[in-house]
Amino acid sequence: MHITRPHAVMFASPGMGHVIPVIELGKRLAGSHGFQVTIFVLEADAASAQSQFLNSPGCDATLIDVIGLPTPDISGLVNPSGLIAINLLTMMRETIPTLRSKIEEMQPKPTALIVDLFGLDALCLGGEFNMLTYVFIASNARFLALTMYFPTLEKDVEEEHIIKKKPLPVPGCEPVRFEDTLEPFLDPTDQIYRVFVPYGLLFPTADGLIVNTWDDMEPKTLKSLQDPKLLGGTARVPVYPVGPLCRPVDPSKTNHPVLDWLDKQPEESVLYISFGSGGSLSANQLTELAWGLELSQQRFVWVVRPPVDGSASSEYLSTNSGEIHDYLPIEFISRTQERGLVVSSWAPQAEILAHQAVGGFLTHCGWNSILESVVSGVPMIAWPLFADQKMNATLLHEELGIAIRSRKLMSEEVVSRVEIESLVRRIMVEEEGCEMREKVKKLRDTAEKSMSCDGSSSHESLSRVANECDRLLERAKNARGA
Ligand code: UDP
Repeated sequence: MHITRPHAVMFASPGMGHVIPVIELGKRLAGSHGFQVTIFVLEADAASAQSQFLNSPGCDATLIDVIGLPTPDISGLVNPSGLIAINLLTMMRETIPTLRSKIEEMQPKPTALIVDLFGLDALCLGGEFNMLTYVFIASNARFLALTMYFPTLEKDVEEEHIIKKKPLPVPGCEPVRFEDTLEPFLDPTDQIYRVFVPYGLLFPTADGLIVNTWDDMEPKTLKSLQDPKLLGGTARVPVYPVGPLCRPVDPSKTNHPVLDWLDKQPEESVLYISFGSGGSLSANQLTELAWGLELSQQRFVWVVRPPVDGSASSEYLSTNSGEIHDYLPIEFISRTQERGLVVSSWAPQAEILAHQAVGGFLTHCGWNSILESVVSGVPMIAWPLFADQKMNATLLHEELGIAIRSRKLMSEEVVSRVEIESLVRRIMVEEEGCEMREKVKKLRDTAEKSMSCDGSSSHESLSRVANECDRLLERAKNARGA
């Protein structure tokens, strides 16, 4: 076969928070930059990737292949009580031999390999098959900055942060508060620290870092990452902001009972509540949240998952949904049925946020959820649970002013029903919420501008990636001709 277009192979980590943005990036590369794209996901994600997220208006499905790779059995390799990050890293690492043999079979060889966060060990395949390598960060520039900078810290600076709990100064960026720091950085004697901290050193070994953000969302951090005297010196690798990559949606063309219910509600009157694809609350907190919603008298759609007393991330990748009646307060559903809808485990979130009836979002602050809220012009109640979510909440609340947040969440105390009632009313009916709605709509306009097709910043970033790939393709062609 004579290939004239660059071919990008993408390797997505498990879970919809990774798969969805990887597919969106693939669609952009194929639709606007002339790539052939092959997306490798783990088998468990393959069906939903194909049925729910691949087919969207304007996407030429013939240019994108999604291939499921067998999910490796890691039960004998990792400590079952380990953080989810260790499991994800191990799953991705164990899948590399299969990925390698798939690439070996491809003729001609792909031009570029794009891995996402937990797949960095696969960057070694770039050299083996003469491919350019890129890391796609489905989180934000702030997460990237901290993860790359942390392993370069002097020991005493690190100790000031993790032992004395002082904010961590990151060159050219907002300091990272101790309470917001990523959990894997907290205990140097822990396995997760030994695995995750050096992992940050792998980022600069790629040919480029593609981040799902844009200038108006994170101006300071992006500037620092691109300045060789600041974090750009640590990285020595180009950073390409390409966001916000969100699935284009049209709620009026989607069939779902939640959307039918929303059709009957007044504009901007409904609070949407979700903790992402894997976040859970403790039983106590879930009860308080239910009562707080009821007391607020506001309309709501709540995606509920069974409570977990322990790690808030332990349900990540789990399909356990349980019986809603078993863990919500007795008769909560019947008492609130006039103005509330409870959905078990999963709802079409992007469509819900884009619906005109939705006026607020209580979110765990996963990056995709934040982006979906911003592109829909919806202000947030930030309720971070784990991973980068606390840093994300600080960005929303303190820097962008588009979310409110309970101080209790920073100390991991239970947030009472009375405080939840107040948070809900503040975002849905009070002046503060109206002002935030205005602000987030302005940010939405910058998001639209950065994603428009010609000359926008995100388009420009991906054009630079495409040019590099074209040059490699050209060199390979010349070498064959010589
Ligand atoms: N999502 C959804 N329905 C749900 C929960 C999640 O469609 O009920 C989607 C959501 O729209 C987002 C992704 O799953 O695109 C979750 O990603 P995020 O980064 O927000 O959080 P994570 O799940 O990775 O913690």
